[in-house]
Amino acid sequence: MACGSNEKKKLSQDEILQIFKETGAFLQGHFLLTSGKHSAQYMQCAQVLQYPRKAAILGQELASQFEGIEIESVIGPAMGGIIVAHEVGRFLGVKAIFTERQNGEMALRRGFKLIPGERVLVVEDVITTGGSVREVIDIVGAAGAIPVGVGVLVDRSGGKADFEGLLLHSLLKMNIEAFEPESCPLCAQGIPWEKPGSRGSK
Ligand SMILES: [Zn+2]
Repeated sequence: MACGSNEKKKLSQDEILQIFKETGAFLQGHFLLTSGKHSAQYMQCAQVLQYPRKAAILGQELASQFEGIEIESVIGPAMGGIIVAHEVGRFLGVKAIFTERQNGEMALRRGFKLIPGERVLVVEDVITTGGSVREVIDIVGAAGAIPVGVGVLVDRSGGKADFEGLLLHSLLKMNIEAFEPESCPLCAQGIPWEKPGSRGSK
């Protein structure tokens, strides 16, 4: 997104990435992932969402991507989607609810309801395959409500996530490559790895 236009200011990719960096949500270095693989980057959205003012900024940014589209409620899958839905909903001034797993099945609980024809924006913190988002879309559809789009903070799908042509917006697109330790270029350079989150607090 180029800056300098006279329309309402939107944050650039760099400005958004900076928010992720300064909150520790995006780390660069040499990491041992829980999968046992190594990577040069690490992303943990919970790190940025722990700061309500940052979460609010991201929620506003994400909401503004859907400007001009009528949205009556926002929904996201627990856990990652809860705060995102809340902040997007706050900015739009609409209801924000979440789905959660019950015996492994995604479900709408706690008395949350969608009504037929309700125009719903589906949000999530990060997607890789988009599986959870797809389950939420199914729940929206099963209620007779209308999914009007999908908004995510970080799209890690490499452009592969597709929700049957549904409008998809993300604040960041990120392709974090993971390596087997034997073929890790950082190991080859003799750079010591660390576990994400093991750095001292700022
Ligand atoms: Zn390595």
